[in-house]
Amino acid sequence: MKRHKDKRRIIKMSTRKKVHTYVRVKPTDEFAYEMITFGEDNKSIDIHIKKDSRRGIVNNQQTDWSFKLDGVLHDASQDCVYDTVAKGVVAQALDGYNGTIMCYGQTGAGKTYTMTGTTENYKHRGILPRALQQVFRMIEERPTHSITVRVSYLEIYNEALFDLLSTLPYVGNSDTPMSIVESPQGIFVKGLSVHMTGREEDAFSLLFEGETNRIIASHTMNKNSSRSHCIFTIYIEAHSRSLSDEKYITSKINLVDLAGSERVGKTGSEGQILKEATYINKSLSFLEQAIIALGDRRREHVPFRQCKLTHALKDSLGGNCNMVIVANVYGDATQLDETLSSLRFASRMKLITTEPSINEKYDAERMVKNLEKELILLKQELAIHDSLANRVMVTYDPMDEVQIAEINSQVRRYLDGSLDEIDIINLRQVQEVFNQFRVILSQQEEEVEASLRKKYTLINKNDFATITTVHKAGLVDVEGNTVGETDGQGFGLGVAPFSAKPGKKGKFKKTFRDITGTSTKKEGLLSPVSAKDIDSLSTSRSQLLSSSKEADVKDAPSHDREASSSEPVVSDSPKEDSRTTRPGTPPPKPSAFEEFKNERGSEINRIFKQNKTILNDRRKKASETAQRINSIKKEIDTTKEALDVQKTFREEQGEYENKGLMIMDEEEFLLILKLKELKKQYRGEYQDLRDLKAEIQYCQHLVDQCRQRLLTEFDIWYNESFLIHEDVQAPLKAKGSIRLGLLPLSKLTSLVRLKMMRINLAKSKHQSSLTVPTRSLSTMPE
Ligand code: ADP
Ligand code: MG
Repeated sequence: MKRHKDKRRIIKMSTRKKVHTYVRVKPTDEFAYEMITFGEDNKSIDIHIKKDSRRGIVNNQQTDWSFKLDGVLHDASQDCVYDTVAKGVVAQALDGYNGTIMCYGQTGAGKTYTMTGTTENYKHRGILPRALQQVFRMIEERPTHSITVRVSYLEIYNEALFDLLSTLPYVGNSDTPMSIVESPQGIFVKGLSVHMTGREEDAFSLLFEGETNRIIASHTMNKNSSRSHCIFTIYIEAHSRSLSDEKYITSKINLVDLAGSERVGKTGSEGQILKEATYINKSLSFLEQAIIALGDRRREHVPFRQCKLTHALKDSLGGNCNMVIVANVYGDATQLDETLSSLRFASRMKLITTEPSINEKYDAERMVKNLEKELILLKQELAIHDSLANRVMVTYDPMDEVQIAEINSQVRRYLDGSLDEIDIINLRQVQEVFNQFRVILSQQEEEVEASLRKKYTLINKNDFATITTVHKAGLVDVEGNTVGETDGQGFGLGVAPFSAKPGKKGKFKKTFRDITGTSTKKEGLLSPVSAKDIDSLSTSRSQLLSSSKEADVKDAPSHDREASSSEPVVSDSPKEDSRTTRPGTPPPKPSAFEEFKNERGSEINRIFKQNKTILNDRRKKASETAQRINSIKKEIDTTKEALDVQKTFREEQGEYENKGLMIMDEEEFLLILKLKELKKQYRGEYQDLRDLKAEIQYCQHLVDQCRQRLLTEFDIWYNESFLIHEDVQAPLKAKGSIRLGLLPLSKLTSLVRLKMMRINLAKSKHQSSLTVPTRSLSTMPE
């Protein structure tokens, strides 16, 4: 029930609310009844001043003011003041909300009386001792929590910090000069003694000690106590006694007795008084600025550091804490000026909103312990699940080096094809498998690159400057091929040399495996890809090109046709100029490949797919058969074991024979029969598996062949459709069955020349109708 109530309070408190302001009027025999009147609701106070006749006929001087506050405390007892002003703030501090109560006003108006009260009269004790009492009472009412209370008493005089409890024994370095420090845990005054108080009485003696020190200091250091700010802080930390609760709350209650707000030294003050006045006026106006800034949501910067008072109270002013201000005023006519000034301050503060929130923290040690407990429970739960699902030997501990090495080897075998499947054991293992894939992939990448570097100089494709330089130096021809490459196909015109054409299956297979897993992300001239990716070619333009160059992919780096066509080296290629009927730039290979598969390559593609389906089907069957074999093997083993048991039993009982025949009981006999049957099954399945494996090998071969065929045909089609000019094709096609797409471009130009020469010879005087642009021919690589 109580819990429920608390919860509701927290929800309610998380909404915005105002700074609470009260005015307390000090009792006097000369109360200015004509000038000060109170509203009936006890929440407003009106001030009326007679017009100043000295100001002449035109007199715009304001004479009436009305202040609306949260309460007017006139002739109010200390009891009543506490209940109205402090009780709620203190109660909420035990729920984790910071609270600050401040007394503001001119010297002698009753700030200290309100805050501390008179020490000699218990009845007249102020907010401070009453707050301590309430805290300890509430702790007693909460046996479910372990709550600690600590206190400190700080005085700020002329911007210097004084510890009013420094005379008491304190665990900590008392010699440290005091300074205000901001830490992730909040703001604190370094060097200020903070004292643990287990009981109400202890807290009181601390308070008395502080008050005595305050008086002594005012004499010995020539301090005027009304010129200093005093902050008494109660620190509360509440841990639930239930260990499962990891949250705990911390809060502070700051009880602030501010320095007199009167504007001292307006005229003629000097020395110490002027200094005090300057500091007080400044710190009080900084206090006001800080509270106003805190209330303004749009303000990002709050000027806390301007003075010690606001800096020390940084996390306890407005903002997320409960804040109450009491304006202590005189009721005498002579003090009306200062009374007015204090009331103005209070009403400005009243406009400010705060958003109190709980200071909740997590007990790291408790959290770790609870998580450990939960981990053990979950492991037990998993073990139960495993045994119910007949999963044995599954561990959930982190893998050791040996296990990781084993997974690495599995992945390698899987990649080279000697392992068909990697069995899934648990999540950790699956993650490690992926991890090992990455490890092997990057190793292979490095190996491939290293071997290429041994043979070739690699240039970044995007590095136009280098490419141009190399081009100028004659190292790369206009087609982007390195000079010295026979046939000029080294950089992937898409035309493969004859030596690398189908028929060289063994070589293909090797290269194919080499490429697998070496698809590189790095930019450069290299972009080999796994031929397995052939179906998803549309994702990468450069990949298609390299995979289409089968045999020498590993050794011969290939240029990205598309990319290189945009480079200055190729942009002025003559082919571009002479192409009229076909698009200016050849289409990207991936999309062309899609088109090819639907057109000329459709039949090969269909067969390729069909073979792949068959291959997959056989693989699946093989895996199923293997599984069956395993389970038969297991059953054979258990049957054998059972037979052994029977046999031992029979031997122990003493064997008996009948006419040379062994007598055995029916159970044993049935087991033998079963074993025989199982062995037969085992042999059958084993034979099936062997057949399937042979079939798989064969199918794999077919699939590889089809893939190769598809790629080669595509290359030819691509070259004929987009790269070789029709004018070049026409005279050569007439010759017969030459597949032009199969030839490297350099060869084609020589052929064209040859043809032209023959035509010229035959028709002697006739001009050839061949209109191959001379520039094109002259710049084509030989
Ligand atoms: P301040 O701290 O604002 O300078 P004090 O609290 O020291 O003022 O008050 C000055 C004197 O007036 C003290 O002797 C105090 O006991 C007395 N006093 C102030 N307020 C009250 C009050 N509400 N009832 C009775 N005495 C009061
Ligand atoms: Mg005082």
